[in-house]
Amino acid sequence: MKVVVIAGGQGTRIASVNNEIPKAMIPINGKPVLEYEIEMAVRYGYTDFLFIIGYLGDQIESYFGDGGKWGIRIDYFKEEKPLGTAGALGYLKAELTEDFFVFYGDTVMDFDMNAMLDYHKEKKADATLFLHPNDHPYDSDIVDLDAEGKVREFYNKPHAPGFISRNMVNAALFIFSPKIVSQIECGVKSHIEKNVLPACLEAGMNLYGYLSFEYIKDMGTPDRYYSVCEDVRSGKVKRMNRRNSRPAIFLDRDGVLSKEVDLLCKPEQLELIEGVGEAIRYINRKGYLAIVVTNQPVIARNMCSIKELDHIHAKLETLLGAEHAYLNAIYYCPHHPHGGYPEERKEYKMKCSCRKPEPGMLLKAADDWNIDISQSYMIGDRPSDVQAGENAGCKQSVQIEQNKPYALLDALKSILEN
Ligand SMILES: [Zn+2]
Repeated sequence: MKVVVIAGGQGTRIASVNNEIPKAMIPINGKPVLEYEIEMAVRYGYTDFLFIIGYLGDQIESYFGDGGKWGIRIDYFKEEKPLGTAGALGYLKAELTEDFFVFYGDTVMDFDMNAMLDYHKEKKADATLFLHPNDHPYDSDIVDLDAEGKVREFYNKPHAPGFISRNMVNAALFIFSPKIVSQIECGVKSHIEKNVLPACLEAGMNLYGYLSFEYIKDMGTPDRYYSVCEDVRSGKVKRMNRRNSRPAIFLDRDGVLSKEVDLLCKPEQLELIEGVGEAIRYINRKGYLAIVVTNQPVIARNMCSIKELDHIHAKLETLLGAEHAYLNAIYYCPHHPHGGYPEERKEYKMKCSCRKPEPGMLLKAADDWNIDISQSYMIGDRPSDVQAGENAGCKQSVQIEQNKPYALLDALKSILEN
């Protein structure tokens, strides 16, 4: 399977290098960013590369040559004129006859390539897009997925005021099938995110989002450049690969993140408790996954549909995003054990293993995201939350006062700083 690296585009100037260089050659601790990408792919057994180069591309070619030094083979496609991120692929239909990875050459990342490929195959996708939550969704390209992970809509930036969505950001890393390439015209400038993927969706192709919390960042600004260099140096980039287990903070929703409203069932009713944005930012910064686990019997009681619940969660993530904070995942239990209400939805009236104090949601999250529960914490406002954390085997479970400003942040600091 080939790895196609898009390394055309404009050059850049950075302080430590005097002349203009292609972005793929930006040095990180003495090595070009593209070399890290190659080393990662080689670790997963990929050895067949196709570099798309343009302006200043000779610098890339003279450094990497035929790839022999890394035990790989590199072919080059040189753009005569800038064709956007996708245009060159139009010329490569004869070369791209099987599914292939698409990397941008200026991205620092470390992800489990095989896990993404397995997902792509399992979904029989025409394209799989790597998605993640970030701390500025309001000015990012958002992808809307259905419950199976299939792309429903692209919401590219800039967004209209009042835009509400889940925090699912296109990280610009893909697996494409040849079907995607067949949509790209030769010699016409086009962009993957702006033109190609929306056109493929329109044409009815199967596009899927692959959600991951592994490290992936481009270096758009000098600030980001220095933080990325530090993250490579400290080992953070590799540590976040999903093959390594991570700790999580499990959080109840109502009364802990959002103000407790009796049977909340409309997005308009959802308001953050003061200090919650800061608390979630703190979790994000500390390297813990922020996972919501919430009982939502409003579904079983037919007071709220799954679709409305999705809107409520979109509102929650949008409010947090405005404060540069993000949740990694939201799990809810739609069940309720007691039947007998007139409007109830019988299919959700059951004794389940997910309704807290049962540990089902925490265990499912641990399985989905390789979470080390023994190093994780549960924070809620009810004894059933604490019980769920204990039943799951969390390191500690804490009950905080419902709706109290800054209660969550205070609890986190006392747990994680002692
Ligand atoms: Zn349940």
